[in-house]
Amino acid sequence: MFTKEAFTQEPKIVDCETAEGTKTRCYQLITDGAPAGRKPGPFCPRTTSDGADVGGAWFNKEGTGDLVDITGEFILKLGEYYGDEKWMVYDAKTNKVRYTATKEACLGAAKPDVEEEYMQNCIECELSYLDDNFSRTFLIPITPITAAKTGRARTVGIALDGTELSAAAPVDAILGAYTIAAFDDCGGHINVHQGYHYHSTTGCTDKLTTDDGHAPLVGYAGDGYGIYALKNAKGEEAKSLDECRGQTDEVRGYHYHAASPSENKFIGCFHGETVLPEGPPHGPHPIGRPPLPAKLEEGH
Ligand SMILES: [Zn+2]
Ligand SMILES: [Zn+2]
Repeated sequence: MFTKEAFTQEPKIVDCETAEGTKTRCYQLITDGAPAGRKPGPFCPRTTSDGADVGGAWFNKEGTGDLVDITGEFILKLGEYYGDEKWMVYDAKTNKVRYTATKEACLGAAKPDVEEEYMQNCIECELSYLDDNFSRTFLIPITPITAAKTGRARTVGIALDGTELSAAAPVDAILGAYTIAAFDDCGGHINVHQGYHYHSTTGCTDKLTTDDGHAPLVGYAGDGYGIYALKNAKGEEAKSLDECRGQTDEVRGYHYHAASPSENKFIGCFHGETVLPEGPPHGPHPIGRPPLPAKLEEGH
């Protein structure tokens, strides 16, 4: 089901152990942090007169429904939009949008405590900022194991283009620094720890797997269950979901339906067991269940 060239090595089946201690077999998927078959972006508009084609998208302030386009107009009206006149992400003389144009700026702005000089910025990072040998390893049980207790993890799963379906973006910290961690229109962005990763699903990796009108497959959760789009072929949202946003049917068995793009999550929790990373951690966002703060947040 994955996009051609989603992985940097042929996927393997390896021995693995879940966080709950179940010994099982896993798919080992290794990626280079880039979405297969697509160039990420655009993210930040360049001037306050740019239209939606030049910029990407961001969570709307309602926290549900579609993303909002980051147009020049949106940048101009950020103060009004968030009810805080301190917002100033552009130069009023030149009408140029202030954005992170270098690796240094990307690193400085995309930290939990944003450095003063990188506040008031539209944040965008490039794949070229990743280490030369950057790679991500995903271990996913080949047969999902229903967990005794639902769980959470920093990595939700993997999209069909080989990039991460990420835990929630720390929106309060991002907006608190008067920054926008711009997504592209596919609902993803880049950081040097996760590579390109999604915070939202807007249809870019959707793949129709059956002709029964069910919502298309988006990717797989870390517990091995499929994550499907929110809406079916008729545009109707999935109903009767459990707390993890899952449901069961005869064709797919247990599976999830992604939340709406602005909800800052894909699923509610893991229905199945997930695997902790093997050996040294592969960067700060391995798949699995490291100890988490009460509020699930990542360094964007
Ligand atoms: Zn379904
Ligand atoms: Zn992020």
